[in-house]
Amino acid sequence: MKKRIAIFGSTGSIGTQALEVIAAHPELFSAEILTAQHNEEALIAQALQFNPNIVVIGDERKYEKVKQALSATPVKVFAGEAALAEAAGIDCYDMMVAAIVGFAGLKPTLIALNEGKSVGLANKETLVVAGDIVMQKSVEKRAPIIPIDSEHSAIFQCLVGETRNKIEKVILTASGGPFLGKKPNFLLNVKRDHALQHPNWKMGAKITIDSATLMNKGLEMIEARWLFNLQPNQVQTLIHPQSIIHSIVQFEDGSMKAQMGLPDMKLPIQYALTFPSRIKNDFPRYDFRKPCQLNFEDPDIKTFRNLALASEALNRGGNLPCIMNAANEIAVFAFLRNRIGFLDMTDVIEAAMERLPFIENPSLNDYYESDGEARNFAASLIRL
Ligand code: NDP
Ligand code: MG
Repeated sequence: MKKRIAIFGSTGSIGTQALEVIAAHPELFSAEILTAQHNEEALIAQALQFNPNIVVIGDERKYEKVKQALSATPVKVFAGEAALAEAAGIDCYDMMVAAIVGFAGLKPTLIALNEGKSVGLANKETLVVAGDIVMQKSVEKRAPIIPIDSEHSAIFQCLVGETRNKIEKVILTASGGPFLGKKPNFLLNVKRDHALQHPNWKMGAKITIDSATLMNKGLEMIEARWLFNLQPNQVQTLIHPQSIIHSIVQFEDGSMKAQMGLPDMKLPIQYALTFPSRIKNDFPRYDFRKPCQLNFEDPDIKTFRNLALASEALNRGGNLPCIMNAANEIAVFAFLRNRIGFLDMTDVIEAAMERLPFIENPSLNDYYESDGEARNFAASLIRL
């Protein structure tokens, strides 16, 4: 029996790589649902290649074009945000690959979990915003979440066979991004095109900027806290510029396990799709015999203040990570449009975290409201 996959965000960096994995193993997987927001050309091409059951285009203005292009096929075409959520609830798939970027990924993921579907989770913002509710849903519905984010996939892989053993801490490695070692006077003048050049990974624009500001690692600390049921002080970050060690688990006997490999997202994607099995592939291998150096250093949180803000959000919890995430999405959006500078992003996030009301035990509705308020507040600072 083939595993039927629904890729939410199929036209993005993770989505297209997930389709590459599916295309390499047609005997194991079929693509049943594909979704995009604006990129109708890519969605159409994917639908013609993979012949899914359903496609959804978020931007309703593109509906006619997609419908027309697929009129000779049995593919069902839907459009709009509500259709995206509805598609997640249709019982035509076994596993969702949650590869939408940002807060927009929360709703379809929650619906998939509610339907008892397993979720291969790339969309870290889902857990940053509402990790308590999402994990609770996963347990309640026995709907497993398999991490795709490379660090979390690494930890997940290290934990196989260790269910009874206590974790002392996890160490999330970070490449440091394109501005590793730089100081604020340099960062002041950084432009988007420079920030979009990540040394080790080719990813979507938002996560690439998050990697340059180290917000990505902050989001990942919160993601790890929820995925692995850790206390905030059990999550540590370490700069490792080569991105070969993807993360480390330290158990209570002091023993450490790490997962390693070349930086290639297809590996954690494939692992999520085939878990608990591993299957053969021809991805390039890391070779220790070649001249190599693996370096480690503490992150510079005085310069990359987003990581300090994320630690604060991790420690205080409540709706603070949600507020931080929303302000960050607006700040990154503005930076990508050259509306604010690199360091301004941190100021916007910090102001939102200071000014918006703190809720200690938020409901899902509180998270939606906090997200909206934080977006409006951040946008008002930038005058978007
Ligand atoms: P991309 O920007 O490349 O892709 C995002 C996808 O989501 C696209 O299919 C896009 O559609 C769709 N999308 C964008 N906005 C919306 C919206 N409002 N509603 C519905 N769909 C939307 O992102 P990435 O693939 O890089 O990242 C996806 C997620 O995975 C992020 O949360 C990121 O943090 C996480 N991740 C990514 C990694 C990577 O290597 N890229 C590594 C680890 C985690 P369209 O193309 O039409 O705009
Ligand atoms: Mg990561």
